[in-house]
Amino acid sequence: MNQEQRKKQIAILGSTGSIGTQALEVIAEHPDRFEARVLTANTRWQLLAEQARRFLPATVVIADEQHYDALAAALADLPIQVYTGSDALCQVVQSSEVDMVLTAMVGFAGLAPTIAAIRARKPIALANKETMVVAGELINRLCREYEVPILPVDSEHSAIFQSLIGEVSPIEKIILTASGGPFRTFSRQQLEDVTPAMALKHPNWDMGAKITIDSASMMNKGFEVIEAKWLFGVEPDRIQVVVHPQSVVHSAVQFADGAVKAQLGVPDMRVPIQLAFSFPERLQSSFDRLDWFTMHSLTFERPDTDRFHCLALAYEALQRGGNAPCIVNAANEIVNRAFLEGRCRFLQMADIIERTLDRATFIQTPTYEDYLQSDAEARRIAAEQILPLPSL
Ligand code: NAD
Ligand code: MG
Repeated sequence: MNQEQRKKQIAILGSTGSIGTQALEVIAEHPDRFEARVLTANTRWQLLAEQARRFLPATVVIADEQHYDALAAALADLPIQVYTGSDALCQVVQSSEVDMVLTAMVGFAGLAPTIAAIRARKPIALANKETMVVAGELINRLCREYEVPILPVDSEHSAIFQSLIGEVSPIEKIILTASGGPFRTFSRQQLEDVTPAMALKHPNWDMGAKITIDSASMMNKGFEVIEAKWLFGVEPDRIQVVVHPQSVVHSAVQFADGAVKAQLGVPDMRVPIQLAFSFPERLQSSFDRLDWFTMHSLTFERPDTDRFHCLALAYEALQRGGNAPCIVNAANEIVNRAFLEGRCRFLQMADIIERTLDRATFIQTPTYEDYLQSDAEARRIAAEQILPLPSL
C-alpha cells in the first residue's frame, strides 16, 4: 500500500460550521495523515465551494436544494461530484472510500446520516450530541450490531474517554465540567431580560449559534449528561455536573478507590477533533499549550438548577426514559431558534420545554419511526406556545 492510500479519508458532515472548519484545520496540519473525502453544508454554499477548492474532496453535498445550481457552477472546473438534499447526506457517508465520519452538523438532522454511516460500518467521530440525546439507546444497539466505534469530539466526553484509557474497573462517578456560560453569575431577575446578543458571547468557547444559546441556558450541559450516559454506560445519579468557569479541566472520572483522573488543556476543540481522527495515536500539534504560571486559579461550583432549569429538565427526561429526551431535544430546537429570533424570552425556554415534555405522547421503547414522529409532535407542541410576533 503506498503512502497516498494510507491517509485516513474523512467525511465531514457540516464542514462550514465551527467544528467543521476546525476539523479542516486539523486536516491541513496533517496532510500526510488525513484527507477530506466528503464535505457537506446546509446553506453556506460559497464557503463550501472555497473549502472544496482547497481540500479537493471527491464529493460535496449542499443539503438545501436551492443552492445546488450555484455550488455546482462554482465547482464546474473541478473533478468533484456535487449532490444536494438530505438523502444525499445519508448516501455519501456510505462510500467505500470513507474511513471515518465526523458528525459536525447541528440538531436532529444529524440522526439519519449518523445511522446510515453506522450501518455502512464507518467509525464515527461524534460532535452532533443531539443524535445521542434523541436516540442514544438505538445508536448504541446499532454500533454493537455493526461493530462501529464512536470517538467523542465533545470536549467533556473526549476528556472522559481519555481518562478511561487503560482502565478496566467500573466508573464510580463522572465529573462533567461546565463553564456556566455567560450568565453564570446572573440572578433570576437579571435572566428575565437577557438578549440573544448577550447569550451569544460565550466566555471561553467560540461555537455555532445553537450550541452557544444551549450553553447559556445550560441545556447543553443537560444534553452532555445524556450523551455521557449513553457513551459510557453510567447512570445519571453518577454523573455530577460541576461548574468550572475557566474550562481548563475538561472533565474527570472517579473510580472505586477514590482516585480521580481528569484531562486538562486550553479550551481548543481542535484537540479532541484531532484525537478522534488519530486515536489511539496522539499527533503533534501547533496549538497553544497550558501555561501553568498565568493560570492563577481553578474554581469549582455547584450548578444552580433553579436559575438554569433546562439542566434539571434534561435529568428529568433521562429519568423518564423512552422518547422523553427526544421530546426535550425537539422542543429545545424550537425555543432556541425562537429566542435567537427574539420571539421567546430566556426563561420562557425552559417553561415551554417542560410543558412540551408533559403534553407530548410518551413512548417507553421507541423505534426509529417513533423518534421521527415524536420529534415532529414535540416541535408542533412547542411552536404553538411561541408568539408569532417579536416580543422583545
Ligand atoms: P454550526 O452551526 O457552527 O455548524 C453546523 C454545520 O452543520 C454547518 O456546516 C451547517 O451547514 C450544517 N448544518 C446545519 N443544519 C443542517 C441540516 N439541517 N442539514 C445539513 N447540514 C446542516 O455548529 P457547531 O457549533 O459546529 O456544532 C455542530 C455540532 O457539534 C452540534 O451538534 C454541537 O452541539 C456539537 N458541538 C459543537 C462544539 C463547538 O465547539 N462548536 C463543541 C461540542 C459539540
Ligand atoms: Mg461540550
